[in-house]
Amino acid sequence: MKLSIINVNKIYKNESGEIEILRDINFEVESGEFICIVGPSGCGKSTLVNIIAGLDNSTTGRVDLNNKEINSPGPDRAIVFQDFALFPWLTVIDNIELGMKIKGIPKKERRKKALNYLAMVHLSEFKDYYIHQLSGGMRQRVSIARALAMESEILLMDEPFASVDSHTRCILHYELLKIWNDTKKTIILITHSIDEAVLLADRILVMGPSPASIKKEIRLSMKRPRNIDIKELELINEIKRELQLCTKGVFYDKQDFKEDFILHNTNGNLGSNL
Ligand code: ADP
Ligand code: MG
Repeated sequence: MKLSIINVNKIYKNESGEIEILRDINFEVESGEFICIVGPSGCGKSTLVNIIAGLDNSTTGRVDLNNKEINSPGPDRAIVFQDFALFPWLTVIDNIELGMKIKGIPKKERRKKALNYLAMVHLSEFKDYYIHQLSGGMRQRVSIARALAMESEILLMDEPFASVDSHTRCILHYELLKIWNDTKKTIILITHSIDEAVLLADRILVMGPSPASIKKEIRLSMKRPRNIDIKELELINEIKRELQLCTKGVFYDKQDFKEDFILHNTNGNLGSNL
């Protein structure tokens, strides 16, 4: 698998004229890589991930998968959205099965797969619950299980943990790394949190303010799970300083820019009620 983002530009048109959002975005993703894309709020991260998902088109440039241009959603790419995007009138298990049903997978087979992915996110006992009966963390795990059930090569995640509390986020990080390790999927995760990117990524791509391009690429080779460690704190602070330079003049989430933050140990206890 090779995903290539080639000279991608995106211009939106509205009443007051044209706004250039993305400018000359270029990068490649190899099979099994865990990529995090960080950038300030409003810089075009969701626009970029939607273009990769095929939910939006670039104005110029192209996205190639295995050297073939892609312009629409496909079974090779599943997406997890920030706001879960689950169906409230369906139970947990029916939400997970829906995509497989649309794909025409027979009932018995899709139930088996859905149960397998529910177990992966530690929600087996909640399979018959409705979405409103779940916490934010549990909802996000359902949407991760739903995306995994599509068995796509690539998992796209647009700020998947932004709306859950920090403790739950820490557990979801641990679970996601385990799933990535078990399934060998290629993951592209969008975040505005540098801490999250440093905990998870093989490679971090830093986007600047709009019109955004990739300002910097950082490879991380520290082994996982990544714990509190002076070397990592120094590295994170260095990345933060670089990001500050890339995004100078742009308001950034203050919490993300504190230099004395505490990194979570991802060896958390996996509670099922989060
Ligand atoms: P991010 O995910 O980094 O916060 P987005 O990709 O959502 O940023 O948005 C980038 C910019 O593009 C924002 O200024 C937003 O208002 C604008 N934008 C997003 N979608 C549209 C659209 N459909 N039409 C016009 N402008 C849009
Ligand atoms: Mg966004």
